[in-house]
Amino acid sequence: MNISHIEHIGIAVENLQEAIKYYEDVLGMSCYAVEEVVDQKVKTAFFLVGTTKIELLESTSPDGPIGKFIEKKGPGIHHIAFAVNNATEALQQAEAKGVTLIDKVSRKGAEGLNIGFLHPKSTMGVLTELCSKQ
Ligand code: ZN
Repeated sequence: MNISHIEHIGIAVENLQEAIKYYEDVLGMSCYAVEEVVDQKVKTAFFLVGTTKIELLESTSPDGPIGKFIEKKGPGIHHIAFAVNNATEALQQAEAKGVTLIDKVSRKGAEGLNIGFLHPKSTMGVLTELCSKQ
């Protein structure tokens, strides 16, 4: 697998507007996009830090993945996303090495990227996303 950089860090928040205010007013970042990803039941807000993004995630439904995460663990770091050349190929390479996948093939995520997740039980507890532009 050919990881080029950390694409983003996903952070689960209870209230997107409050979180945006903190990142902008306290940390001095600027939110450049807000997007709803309907099939993941989230609203996202993006900030750029160098070549890495911060992706804030607010659940739009208690039964969505972020809603369940916050109920179990509270708000906080949810996942780390690595940029690869081809997300589907990278998922297959991980599976060939014995990693349990959440996504067998990549699907469309925020910002039109192709994304797929490795299961945290195979990754020492870190929900790991692989994403690519193709
Ligand atoms: Zn992500």
